[in-house]
Amino acid sequence: FLPHLVASLEQVDETYIMVKPDGVQRGLVGEIISRFEKKGFKLTGLKLFQCPQDLAEEHYKDLKGKSFFPKLIDYIISGPVVCMAWEGVGVVAAARKLIGSTNPLQAEPGTIRGDLAVQTGRNVVHGSDSPENGKREIALWFKEGELCQWTPTQEPWLRE
Ligand code: UDP
Ligand code: MG
Repeated sequence: FLPHLVASLEQVDETYIMVKPDGVQRGLVGEIISRFEKKGFKLTGLKLFQCPQDLAEEHYKDLKGKSFFPKLIDYIISGPVVCMAWEGVGVVAAARKLIGSTNPLQAEPGTIRGDLAVQTGRNVVHGSDSPENGKREIALWFKEGELCQWTPTQEPWLRE
């Protein structure tokens, strides 16, 4: 096994990251994008978008039975969101770490929610919880032609 062959076998994953309406209203869009950008992941999709109710319900369909579901949907459609697709080896789990715990009071300092939010119902950002959901959510929120495949020039400075 040659090292460069092992590296090329590493799975490149995709995750769907979304600045929720409170993040947009509070002027945190640039701050949130920059955390993923500075980490070194690759941005492949980005748009400001007013989410319709049916899309919000489809996105959160696994939570449909929960008592907070109606308020969650109202929250997500209450104003524009910023939709993002990010790509990289290990990006799904790493993005969840950068985001922090669902309850911002339990999220570690240094994480987005730990630094920028105080309440679960206003926790400023979404991140997919598995590579499968990353793919599902990107397909849900982006149309074909809205995603860009490109090679960042910094790639060799991030990965050997
Ligand atoms: N949520 C809520 N109350 C709860 C649990 C969740 O309002 O008791 C909202 C919150 O905005 C959260 C979203 O529902 O981010 C999705 O919940 P999930 O458990 O998937 O948390 P996440 O994956 O966003 O950390
Ligand atoms: Mg979730």
